[in-house]
Amino acid sequence: MPANEPQKVNLLGLSAEKLVAFFASIGEKPFRATQVLKWIHQLGAENFEQMTNLSKALRAKLEEKAEIRAPEVVSQQDSSDGTRKWLIRVTGGSCVETVFIPDGDRGTLCVSSQVGCSLDCSFCATGKQGFNRDLTAAEIIGQVWIAAKSFGQLEPKAERTVTNVVMMGMGEPLLNFENVVDSMNLMLNDNAYGLSKRRVTLSTSGVVPALDKLGDVTDVSLAISLHAPNDELRNELVPINKKYPIAVLLDSTRRYLEKMPDTHRKVTVEYTLIDQVNDRPEHARQLAELMRDVPCKINLIPFNPFSQSDYKRVSNNSLHRFRDILYRAGYTVTVRTTRGDDIAAACGQLAGTVNDRTRRSERYRQQAAEKVADEQAVRFVER
Ligand code: SAH
Ligand code: SF4
Repeated sequence: MPANEPQKVNLLGLSAEKLVAFFASIGEKPFRATQVLKWIHQLGAENFEQMTNLSKALRAKLEEKAEIRAPEVVSQQDSSDGTRKWLIRVTGGSCVETVFIPDGDRGTLCVSSQVGCSLDCSFCATGKQGFNRDLTAAEIIGQVWIAAKSFGQLEPKAERTVTNVVMMGMGEPLLNFENVVDSMNLMLNDNAYGLSKRRVTLSTSGVVPALDKLGDVTDVSLAISLHAPNDELRNELVPINKKYPIAVLLDSTRRYLEKMPDTHRKVTVEYTLIDQVNDRPEHARQLAELMRDVPCKINLIPFNPFSQSDYKRVSNNSLHRFRDILYRAGYTVTVRTTRGDDIAAACGQLAGTVNDRTRRSERYRQQAAEKVADEQAVRFVER
């Protein structure tokens, strides 16, 4: 684009409110925003020419001032178990991954919020890559748009394939607050994806000030990445715990649940089980005690090894013992199984690929650092 040409507004990432404001700024009525919202998110329109219920003049005006630009799909892979993974290039050349996991009549899309992550949890492949940048709202909702389009979901009368979205891909969603909130609001909007708030889940490692704000702007489901039942151990695994310790995080979680209009809402507690680190019976007992006053269900995630980490996956014996202690204490416990192994869609698998190549050549290392996210996936399914 020539330097003096004004940047076009990318309508893909605009929330319903921002789209109304955009139309107001070009002298158009709010109902135009609703029409365009539907065209983009329900019918998958990629250009204004397709929007046949807009006048020719309006289409020309939009052409001049705006665009619908989704991030580029570099590759799409299908696993024998039905998992589908996209490598998606975002502006600047970095790539993120999005994974779709079918499970019966549920189809869960695991969406990334940042390129890399600055929080450096000791067991997480994304954390090991460092932080590159926040994704724009267009790049976040673009992942849903791409998945929905690839299943024909955006064709008229198509059956819904993406039924759930989890913000559990790369990055810490609460550190990219506005873009994540705008994107989740599009997921919930009936003129866009129309998902129920129980089927959109934000997972956080515990950025408490942002979590305190979240309940004022949305009421999606919440998952907290706890991973340890005491501060000493959690400080080691989830360094942000030094800033916002467990008690502070749980208070904030309770406040979030209390803001929800419907009662009976529960937080999902994510607990990645690492062999000999946080998988002992006393950890399970401590966890049962700790969560007594917080309405929750507990999701156990066997650690998925990757080459930059010395941690090992929990043994099946320890996993079952841990689960049973929680069951007996009266908790609802689920164990997440890794899916999409054959296409490297399981957590940490692709980060391992970075590492091997890194050893091969320094030049490649530099390129890999530039494309920090090129090889990340954190994709699971809850059972
Ligand atoms: N930053 C957010 C969301 C992305 S991480 C958060 O931390 O909650 C989503 C989930 O992936 C986290 O619960 C984390 O425990 C899990 N995860 C990361 N690396 C993992 C690994 N190597 N094995 C198993 N789970 C992992
Ligand atoms: Fe970031 Fe979440 Fe990974 Fe921690 S677990 S480094 S917060 S992506």
